[in-house]
Amino acid sequence: MESKQYTDFLLSIRTLSTGQLRHLGTRVDQQLRQDDVNHALEQRLKKLSRCVHCQSAHIVRWGHNAGLQRFRCKQCSKTFNELTKTPFTRLRNRNKLGTYAQCMVAGKTLRQAAKFCQISLTTSFRWRHHFLAKPEQHKAKQLSGIVEVDETFFRESFKGKRQITHRKPRQRGGGKACDAAPLVPVLLMLDRSEHEADFVLVSDCIAEVHPCMENRIKADSVLCTDGSQLYPNFAKNHKLFHKRILNENMARTLESGTFHIQTVNNYTARLKAWLPRFYGVGTDYLANYLAWWRSTAFEELSTGRDWLNEALSP
Ligand SMILES: [Zn+2]
Repeated sequence: MESKQYTDFLLSIRTLSTGQLRHLGTRVDQQLRQDDVNHALEQRLKKLSRCVHCQSAHIVRWGHNAGLQRFRCKQCSKTFNELTKTPFTRLRNRNKLGTYAQCMVAGKTLRQAAKFCQISLTTSFRWRHHFLAKPEQHKAKQLSGIVEVDETFFRESFKGKRQITHRKPRQRGGGKACDAAPLVPVLLMLDRSEHEADFVLVSDCIAEVHPCMENRIKADSVLCTDGSQLYPNFAKNHKLFHKRILNENMARTLESGTFHIQTVNNYTARLKAWLPRFYGVGTDYLANYLAWWRSTAFEELSTGRDWLNEALSP
């Protein structure tokens, strides 16, 4: 739009009624979300260099269909478009992706997001987990400096699972303590430069914890842990300085409070305050939620556009 036209347009806004202004606001918002989707699709198209079926690099452009670029693979002869193998292939919903990304940023529940975007609960579920699958791969590959490591526990939950395979479902309200669902251990590693890695474990034993930590902590780092027996041998074998913080008094005195596990404890406490909005997270999906929390806590993926780019990157 010419700048003169644009100035006139801006001036004309003054003459709009409240209802018209609201309507305009909604349309502007929709347009922005649509631009986000187009931008993310462009980015995906630029990076799409391999066949989504067989990973061959011998692909050629093969016309358009319903506004999407099609490709044909010379290796396996199959065709695909820029959204094949993503859960976003249903064309009529595609324009809602940008709005859904906003819902992710806002931490809306499945139902809230479904209602907001006018999509089914099933679609909402599928989209959320696709949005979350990429950040799940983004746990820190290397931590350095002062590295705090701790375990935390979540109640096992079969939410989102069709069949409970290995134990009888508990009865509602049958709240005897010994009846409570078992606890699922999670290992959290965090350095002071906001690098974080987390692992959902089956049990918190050395055989499971050490492989998670292997090659992830730079030599000469300072490992800060509680008094758990899980870590001393690891520190010794990997030439790490190890500060075991047995109580708060000790944390205060250790190099005037430099060595502590307060960062990882705060991180966990905030996570546990954030999770209840989802009314129980299925254990199978816990890793995805941990990834969501990581990006929320550190504001890495804080805009809808970033969420979209991330989810649609090949
Ligand atoms: Zn192929």
